[in-house]
Amino acid sequence: MTINFLIVGAGFAGAVCAERLAEAGQKVLLIDRRPHVGGNAYDEYDAHGVLIHTYGPHVFHTNNKRVFEYLSRFTTWRFYEHRVRAVLNGKLFPIPINRTTLNLLYDLNLGEQAAADFLEKVREPQEHIRTSEDVVLNSVGRDLCEKFFRGYTLKQWGMDLSELSSGVAARIPTRTNDDDRYFTDTYNFMPADGFTRMFERMLDHPNIEVRLNCDYIERREQLHPAHTIYTGPIDAFFDYRFGKLPYRSLLFDHEHRQDLDRLQEVAVYNYPGQETPYTRITEFKHLTGQACCGTSTVKESSASEGEPYYPIPRQENEGLLQQYKDLASELNNTTFVGRLAQYRYYNMDQVVEQSLAIVERIMHGKSNG
Ligand code: FAD
Ligand code: UDP
Repeated sequence: MTINFLIVGAGFAGAVCAERLAEAGQKVLLIDRRPHVGGNAYDEYDAHGVLIHTYGPHVFHTNNKRVFEYLSRFTTWRFYEHRVRAVLNGKLFPIPINRTTLNLLYDLNLGEQAAADFLEKVREPQEHIRTSEDVVLNSVGRDLCEKFFRGYTLKQWGMDLSELSSGVAARIPTRTNDDDRYFTDTYNFMPADGFTRMFERMLDHPNIEVRLNCDYIERREQLHPAHTIYTGPIDAFFDYRFGKLPYRSLLFDHEHRQDLDRLQEVAVYNYPGQETPYTRITEFKHLTGQACCGTSTVKESSASEGEPYYPIPRQENEGLLQQYKDLASELNNTTFVGRLAQYRYYNMDQVVEQSLAIVERIMHGKSNG
């Protein structure tokens, strides 16, 4: 078929753009260098029949009704509220920090008002909130910062809280009640048959051709589309002309326990201490609700080199990003969308929202993302 759009990357950004454009009558070629669709949200059954998230735990949550309704065309949902515990000296504490966390940690019996008073006493108000350290000190003070945030952040990002933009730690709220949900969005659901199945339904369209194991950078001389939507790392698109943008990489250590049906009391245990090299352990059956024998987990640790997973939100990277964005804005037949292409710490729902908006803009004649 004659292609109107080449889309690079079959994650949320690429798949939503492909589906929307195909529905609008456009012929789409969607390529990915990986052997599967779904991007980092890809899930699959492991050798033991347990549904796992290959690239780390993905929990869908959103306040955006439009995003939720759009995805609902391709999946039914399983209600799921995500819970996380921090492991400190072998003991479990609810994270985000709440009343229970304070009572367990300091051997107190605070009610809700007393928990608020406690935090008011220990917090270190900051005049300007610029970094993640400012955020944490401002809300919970130094002791809780050291115990729950500084070490975890150092392991996750390879840098101190004070070196990261405020938005990173601001993802985690502080509570004075007993609510131990990680997310409190309006919609907290997992795709009932998994993310990959949802992607397959999105891409099952006569106007979409999917080509896997196909690297755009290697093949671009042979591809001459009228319009390209690129969802990979923006610096790679421009052959790192101004230097590499730093992305944080992860290592995933997947394990299976045949002898246990459940290993953890909630899906994720965070390990903020320096004595453990990894950041968190996820047990997938909590996320998926799958009932089967045995249980599968993944241990995550991070690295500065390797497959890019996280853009690194800090002021120092904005200048270099702007140089690439300036180049991107000169190309009127190429649109950049998604977590790697926009270099933004987006959740899945934010990527869906951006992608829906970008296709609307393209279809109305403005092509730069
Ligand atoms: P990606 O999913 O990264 O897709 C980009 C695709 O482009 C990839 O498949 C890649 O192979 C392909 N590609 C790149 N370069 C090329 C090339 N040169 N040629 C061909 N293909 C190329 N979000 C949430 O909402 N909730 C969560 O719980 C959550 N947990 C997360 C946990 C981890 C460990 C990580 C890393 C992310 C998590 N996210 C979560 C964020 C979520 O993964 C992203 O928001 C979303 O997947 C981004 O979609 P995307 O399409 O922009 O990028
Ligand atoms: N964070 C932390 N301790 C925790 C949880 C989070 O220090 O127990 C900080 C850390 O810097 C982390 C950031 O808050 O990278 C955002 O956490 P989130 O769980 O949203 O990270 P993600 O799931 O995106 O990796």
